[in-house]
Amino acid sequence: MKSFNPSQFRAQFPALNDGSIYLDSAATALKPGAVIDATTAFYKSSGGNVHRSHSAQAQQLTEQYENTRTMVAQYLNTPDPNTIVWTRGTTEAINLVAQGFARSRLLAGDEIIVSEAEHHANLVPWLMVAEQTGARVVKWPVNSEGLPDIQQLPGLMTSRCKILAVGQMSNVTGGQPDLVQAITLARQAGAYVVVDGAQGIVHNPPDLTTLDCDFYAFSAHKLYGPTGVGVLYGKAELLAEMSPLLGGGKMITDVSFDGYTVQSAPWRFEAGTPNMAGVAGLNAALQWLSQVDTAQAEAWACQLADSAAHQLAKRPGVRLFRAPHASLFAFTVDGLHHSDIATLISSAGIALRSGQHCAQPLLAALGVSGTLRVSFAPYNTPDDVAALVAAFDQALSILLD
Ligand code: PMP
Repeated sequence: MKSFNPSQFRAQFPALNDGSIYLDSAATALKPGAVIDATTAFYKSSGGNVHRSHSAQAQQLTEQYENTRTMVAQYLNTPDPNTIVWTRGTTEAINLVAQGFARSRLLAGDEIIVSEAEHHANLVPWLMVAEQTGARVVKWPVNSEGLPDIQQLPGLMTSRCKILAVGQMSNVTGGQPDLVQAITLARQAGAYVVVDGAQGIVHNPPDLTTLDCDFYAFSAHKLYGPTGVGVLYGKAELLAEMSPLLGGGKMITDVSFDGYTVQSAPWRFEAGTPNMAGVAGLNAALQWLSQVDTAQAEAWACQLADSAAHQLAKRPGVRLFRAPHASLFAFTVDGLHHSDIATLISSAGIALRSGQHCAQPLLAALGVSGTLRVSFAPYNTPDDVAALVAAFDQALSILLD
């Protein structure tokens, strides 16, 4: 039975035992005991290497490792576990698509449409591959709310467009573009669609059977799992054509000094000893999440963000950048530097983020050089909101003195 009780949920996060206030979950989520225990147990009791050692224990590890691939496929509602590639995270996953898939397909003059709201992880790999191929990165501008402007997309989709790269959810405003419409437009133009799900998966796990994007990337660490492990989903027929970037152990079927033959997907993209502990931790995170009423948990986090945004907006000079009811938002204060405010709020024991959030083009479009960002998770409480507002008022009184 799924459930969500705020205090019981919070009690599962040892990092909060000391009463610390963590409002930076969009950077990385805290880990529940179940994930910490699974990772510790992995190192305490596991020996052997997946897909290599023949001991009973190693075979069990391999089974769990491949079983987690199936769990991820189920989480994304896609039937084939072999469409799930382990990576280090979203960044590596998108670079793999740019270099392993797009690079050989792009010709000089081709276009890659990238939304202006993207995290640098879904922009720089495209700028790099454009530089290598002579293709052009075309900006899909945001509207006044900071969302990729769907009205402008049809006008940008020329027959030269080969790739559309778009995020499911902004890590600055929490805005979620209309992916279904964007994908439909890309399909009509014959372009492939790459979705950065790093933030979106936490709040709105995709149904890849209906969403019909070509590639989808996410990182375990934002979904309560360990750092250093992530996922690239790719349609089976596209992964079959994609080239590996790393050569080494277990990505080949045969090798001699005359050459090599690569494995089928997904193993051909997973050269070398993988992050087995990370996969074990992600397995635990997904099992743990399956017991949580995520709709209620999300509603709780969004309510807290609503309350914080509402109170901060009443302070003089505060400008909010927030999609309606998102669990995260950015803000600025006229005449004050975001990092001065962040330093003072941090000194009150509150973790939040200030700066450009790896989204320089979006901040430029919003007309700001930096912002503060608070991001709520279901383990936060109304007391955290009160502490944030009090620390903010205190910071203002010091800085405006
Ligand atoms: N895209 C978005 C929207 C993000 O928020 C992040 C993480 N801040 C990334 C991509 C990159 O994720 P990672 O650093 O885990 O590769």
